[in-house]
Amino acid sequence: MLWLTECIYCGGFVYHLNDGRIKCSACHKKTSKEKINKIITLLDAFVNNETAHHCAKRLHLSYISVQKQFHTFRLLCGMVCEREYESHRHLSCEFEEYFYLEESKKAHKEAIFDAHNFLTFDYDGHIYTLLLPSLQKYKQQFLDDNIEDAYIQTFKKFKRESKLIKLKHSQNNILDFWYYFEKKICAYKGVNHKNFGYFLKEFEFKYNHSKESAKQLLIKEYFNL
Ligand SMILES: [Zn+2]
Repeated sequence: MLWLTECIYCGGFVYHLNDGRIKCSACHKKTSKEKINKIITLLDAFVNNETAHHCAKRLHLSYISVQKQFHTFRLLCGMVCEREYESHRHLSCEFEEYFYLEESKKAHKEAIFDAHNFLTFDYDGHIYTLLLPSLQKYKQQFLDDNIEDAYIQTFKKFKRESKLIKLKHSQNNILDFWYYFEKKICAYKGVNHKNFGYFLKEFEFKYNHSKESAKQLLIKEYFNL
């Protein structure tokens, strides 16, 4: 285990203190072995798409604490994504709009207002997503005005047309990302509307990186290396 013999911050030689912590001989930082171990174990589970619920059970930890930690990892994913966007934005790109609606909601016509709408950019093989405003706030207005049917018809037509565009470029990175995203998000069995953006960034991040590089990037980000 790397962090027991080497400092996680600088790679320096570490001393083992009597209180169970380790102290770096080079940067003098003191850290708890247990804490580092726990974070890295949880990061590993997160990168391997284990759910917080499953992970808490397996490691005998409280679900709330694992969920909190996973949320922190998701925020870090988002930070890395934004930074990577800055380094890719000068490249030429293609983009397409996407609507995501949970499978269980597809049968209800009004559920269209619950769809998540986002843009997906492909910068030369690097994916970036941008969540667009939720339609939910307009739902009541449409219902009050009794024009939701007209809206839903227009929306369906639009979706069909965007599907045609999709089919034209069948082998593309954007489409691959959508398939990947739909498959992964299903494992969460319903994501709270206000958290959707975090999950979107989680999968953008994971899509752009191998598991090993995702883990290393998150370790760096978490420990501020
Ligand atoms: Zn150090």
